[in-house]
Amino acid sequence: MISTPRYAAERVVVMGLGKSGLSAAASLRASGADVQVWDDKPAQVQEGIARGFTAFDGQAMNLDGVRAIVWSPGIPHTLPKAHPLAVRATAAGVPLTCDVDLLVEAQTDAAVIAITGTNGKSTTTALTAHVFKHAGRKTEMGGNIGIPALELEPLGLGGTYVLELSSYQLELMPHLHCQTAVLLNITPDHLDRHGGLDGYIAAKRRIFADQRAPRTAIIGVDDEPCLALYNALRSDGVHKVIPISVRRPVPAGFYVDNGNLFDCSGQFPKTIMDLKNVARLPGAHNWQNAAAAAAIAVSNGLTHAQIIAGFQTFPGLKHRQELVGGTANVAFVNDSKATNADAAEKALLCYDNIYWIAGGVAKEGGIGPLAPLFPRIRHAFLIGDAADDFADTLEGKVPFALYEDMESAIEEAGAMALKDKLPGATVLLSPACASFDMFKNFEERGDRFREEVLALWPQVGKVA
Ligand code: ADP
Repeated sequence: MISTPRYAAERVVVMGLGKSGLSAAASLRASGADVQVWDDKPAQVQEGIARGFTAFDGQAMNLDGVRAIVWSPGIPHTLPKAHPLAVRATAAGVPLTCDVDLLVEAQTDAAVIAITGTNGKSTTTALTAHVFKHAGRKTEMGGNIGIPALELEPLGLGGTYVLELSSYQLELMPHLHCQTAVLLNITPDHLDRHGGLDGYIAAKRRIFADQRAPRTAIIGVDDEPCLALYNALRSDGVHKVIPISVRRPVPAGFYVDNGNLFDCSGQFPKTIMDLKNVARLPGAHNWQNAAAAAAIAVSNGLTHAQIIAGFQTFPGLKHRQELVGGTANVAFVNDSKATNADAAEKALLCYDNIYWIAGGVAKEGGIGPLAPLFPRIRHAFLIGDAADDFADTLEGKVPFALYEDMESAIEEAGAMALKDKLPGATVLLSPACASFDMFKNFEERGDRFREEVLALWPQVGKVA
């Protein structure tokens, strides 16, 4: 556990008692703070009380002498409608912070690599942390991924925290002074929470504010908002800016051409490796993540050999084109994280002869935009609320059937793929939908897929 001695004997309110909030409260208490906890859900407040914390009086909202509120990033504190406690805190001049901010504030001797972007944050964070660990660096990974930030190991001097940061977290990090800041890409997302695209870009941009030397700013330049930020950072004379691209060669940066990853940060451009040979980074969308991880690694003193070794041993992340198992002919892939058509497209692009399990709660636009990829789909197995709509879209283009539950869809899809024996056949759960009509979250959906596949065909096992 990370201790937070700066808050010893201080009054602190923890707002939002999920895993991170409860762990922040525990860390603050262990460090001698006077902690009060609150959550809009009474059951969570009871959980806090059961753990021995005092409940904050939500009626009185007395913030006298409160040093800070540790705010759960999921709760809106400004837009679309500010929570009353946030309004009160602003009026009283009490700062809002979050558990990841407490971590960086407490661990000032360690290096901090912060990673954000609309897509690819988790993959880039996990890949970078893996490369660093594999190279023998004392490294912890956290933030918007893995265990709560204050449950990480204290690293001190010589250690490196690799942190995934969402736009919500970035708005709650007054002490983020990272040495290396990474912005992968920006496409419109969470606009209601940020009051539009400009607000979203402003939140992402915070990652570069108040960096510590050497103030390395790694930034994808393949979309307009990021390109504009890149140009602004380059001319501010403060940052060491490293561009990354998967579209074009970039001077003094890292780019990918047809899968080949190039390092142009030195005197002469050098090829690092062909990413098409990295099994756990399938698809062109992962090239940007790999380029970012390589840029981070090189700018932190790692060699190309260490990057190659790290990439080749990267185990991948669960639920993102996770290879559950396979036979000589058929692979079973869990891409439950694909909660919209855009994400499902990335997976569909990676395989031919796809036995596609899709459906759930569809996003606006459904799967219409995926039509160019329909020829890759041998058969669709449709589930959940969206099944009828998806069936309408596929009618006459892709054979399909509807299923009451995911288990039946898996059974049919696997049986058909194993019988057909088509080259490179893939049973792919990439639902293009949210999961909450049938599951608690995408993780539960993906776990169920893995369990079911391994129960039905134990022989497919785990492919190394
Ligand atoms: P995040 O943490 O930002 O949500 P993940 O690394 O978990 O991102 O990837 C989630 C999904 O986003 C992947 O399954 C893939 O569909 C898509 N994706 C991953 N990396 C990128 C990228 N660099 N650009 C566009 N889409 C991506």
